[in-house]
Amino acid sequence: MLLSKAAWRAYNTYRKGARYPSELAHTTELLNGTRETLAAFQKVRLEQLIQHAYQTTPYYRELLKTGSVSMSEIPPLEKQDIREHLARLCSEAFTPEQRIKNATGGSTGTPLTFYQDRNYWNQRNLSVYYFDRWAGWDLGEPQLIIWGAPADLRGDAHWKHRLNTFWRNQYWLDGFHLTDETMHAAFEKMNRWNPGTILAYPSSLYQFAKFVYENGLKPRWSLKGIISSAEMLHQHYRNLAETVFDVKVFNRYGGREVGLIAMECAEGRMHINCRDLYLEIDSPDPYRHPGDILVTHLNNYAMPFIRYRIGDIGVFSDEMCPCGNALPILANLFGRSTATFRTRTGTLIHGGYFTQQFYNVQGVNQFQLVQETLDRCVLKLVINEQWREATRHHLVQKIQEALGADVVIEVAFVDAIPLPASGKREFTISRVTGVS
Ligand SMILES: [Zn+2]
Repeated sequence: MLLSKAAWRAYNTYRKGARYPSELAHTTELLNGTRETLAAFQKVRLEQLIQHAYQTTPYYRELLKTGSVSMSEIPPLEKQDIREHLARLCSEAFTPEQRIKNATGGSTGTPLTFYQDRNYWNQRNLSVYYFDRWAGWDLGEPQLIIWGAPADLRGDAHWKHRLNTFWRNQYWLDGFHLTDETMHAAFEKMNRWNPGTILAYPSSLYQFAKFVYENGLKPRWSLKGIISSAEMLHQHYRNLAETVFDVKVFNRYGGREVGLIAMECAEGRMHINCRDLYLEIDSPDPYRHPGDILVTHLNNYAMPFIRYRIGDIGVFSDEMCPCGNALPILANLFGRSTATFRTRTGTLIHGGYFTQQFYNVQGVNQFQLVQETLDRCVLKLVINEQWREATRHHLVQKIQEALGADVVIEVAFVDAIPLPASGKREFTISRVTGVS
């Protein structure tokens, strides 16, 4: 443990440079600051970002006409805009080599490719470090991770991942494919290893908690907290996990496009990460009436995201949190919902597995995968002119790889996938009972 902590520090200094400890201190100071300090910081960063976007991206040069506009005058950035103007959104101040490509299968079932830069990632990691400490995590402490395995880990990438896992003192349980065997093995391992925190998809956490509970297993770990991220934390997920593991679940809200957006504190409020981003609610009264969340990222200079409509719905609170932290609060979040699919052999497949198959797929505007029975799924697609028949073959094959080669995948081309009345967007749905 101590050795690992020292190794982690040495590794970070090596990777991130000698300035890392002082950057961490600055991050902490700002995020622990007063509302006035935070507002002043954001004002300066927003002005800088708009100037930068206007001066170095063809898209914003044409859209804004001037570098001195107020935020409310800038039209929101839609996913459709990113798909249509990807190259023109990239800053001319960065060479193609300096851009880091990233993609999302889409929290709303809308696949998207975009770019970030090195500084974006450095700042994002500092913020994650700051906020994860709220849940009891710290440098080099053992952490159980129930998460989808990164796609296509082969050769060097595979070894880099293993080395990273070692340095970071993490144990990975593949949340995309949960079986009784892997869950039991992880449980036994944790009894010896004693993790301080768990980081998990809420639905995978729920499945694991359910497994532990139904098998009468008693965790003998000194957990300080559980961090749940990347999708909706349903109340029944939280209740079961908090009962089984006897510790608080901390909800973390974010997205691959913009990183960590908000984190739950010990008092159960979601505090907004004002250091990395500026959040707006597209509503006549953002403190009373929920609306689309608009995210402006303050650090991604390779490709500015200004008033980006991320696809989630929320509402602000103006209360000062009893925890003492002054970061503004997202009172209610109507986010994404991910289904867990069950195969005939009993393996539980996380909906994120299917989403991942849409990363970098061209020709799909929106998708929704519905598991109707153990033998049949319907894949609804809204396509565009870049669609190719080969893509259909690829997608069907990837779905069958997880659910079984003889499972029928019906592809339905539709004009739109409407938002259900609940406002809870679903890109994976399972009608097979007994899963969640
Ligand atoms: Zn708080």
